[in-house]
Amino acid sequence: MYEAYPDLKGQGEGVHEGAACYSNPKIVDILADWIVGCGQLPGVTEVDVWLTENLVQKPGCQCVRCRTQNRDLLEVRAVIDAWKKAKKTIPNVGLRVLTSEETADSNEQIIAMLPPEVKVWYYHSLLTYNNREMEIIPSYCEQSAKQGRVIGVVADLGVKGQLVQPFTSAHFIRYRMNEFADKNIASLMGYPRPRLYYCDFNTEATAEWSWNAKGRTTHEFALSWAMRQGLDDPELFAQWAETIGPVAWDVYGCEWPFGEKRRSLKTVTQQLKEGTLPELGEVFWELYPKPWGDIKSVRQLNQDVTNAAKAVKLAQKMGLARYHEESRVIYGYINSLKALYELKQVVKPERIAEENRTAAGIYFQNYVDSLRQVQQAVIKWEQAVGPWPGHPSIAGKTKVFLNPLIEDMISTAAEFDYQLN
Ligand SMILES: [Zn+2]
Repeated sequence: MYEAYPDLKGQGEGVHEGAACYSNPKIVDILADWIVGCGQLPGVTEVDVWLTENLVQKPGCQCVRCRTQNRDLLEVRAVIDAWKKAKKTIPNVGLRVLTSEETADSNEQIIAMLPPEVKVWYYHSLLTYNNREMEIIPSYCEQSAKQGRVIGVVADLGVKGQLVQPFTSAHFIRYRMNEFADKNIASLMGYPRPRLYYCDFNTEATAEWSWNAKGRTTHEFALSWAMRQGLDDPELFAQWAETIGPVAWDVYGCEWPFGEKRRSLKTVTQQLKEGTLPELGEVFWELYPKPWGDIKSVRQLNQDVTNAAKAVKLAQKMGLARYHEESRVIYGYINSLKALYELKQVVKPERIAEENRTAAGIYFQNYVDSLRQVQQAVIKWEQAVGPWPGHPSIAGKTKVFLNPLIEDMISTAAEFDYQLN
């Protein structure tokens, strides 16, 4: 667009290179053309317009017309005008507008500006792409939905982050769908990462409770799912799903291990050495739960370890590699957190007390072994699920991602004179 219309590029010092000038009437013409183009496709009745996602704290256009205005509202005004213009060509085309973290501070004003028939997608990469046990629909969306506007949400059904992670948790999905139903959320754009059929259980669970939020229990749903899959022992599967579901939700709700990817945050080994690992249940800036923000107590942590071990045994009994390897992934992750938590108790900056040296050695090794177990199991899990025809295997990315976590802990242990295997 900027090649054809360079004057639409945001102007001024320090402006994000992708930012557009929304005061220039030409942008309304272009957006209207796009809405008409999409809206004329067969079967299309409404068009989603996604607002700018993230300008990384840089300003929008600073031209004389833009700089005194709220950038988000200028953009929305252009979208509304473009939609009205598009309706001159296709009078019945509907509009949906998707919010973002860039527009978050203006969302209430945006919703107030939009004509009542315009539908809204609430999206925020940190708050709706999320596995935490917390409500994610803000009160202004709930109010607007209860006043009759169609409000939708864009939410993770799989695990946040771009890694292959098995996640069978009816508990997580039931919780999310109940929040949405209670708050009159009318539509859902679900993200079953990393591939739909890697996430089939959670996706069906989404259909289950978005349709009937107060209906079946997690156990009843798992049982019905196993029967439809033709598993030999549906009740055994349901027991397994009941056991693994809450543990997996705790692990991923803590953004473990994906949170280690955020370069803006210290790694857990840095925090361990500095003595700055948070307490259980702490969420940094209320946004970053790594490593154990969704695990509120030692009791919960220990219960998770016990249940993960139990899930491994139940999966062995089922005799299906897919669920066995998945259980080993979750067991590996929760054990790595348990080891890290125990290390936090004994590793002090620059020293480990003599009486704690044996325990520390065991937990350093446990941490490393647990993540190595995940590396093996996640690859086997993907193989057991089966390759997606025509697409390469992707679990290797998870294995590669975990390498530096393992190496960091090995070198941290070495600083305290432990030689790990
Ligand atoms: Zn401008």
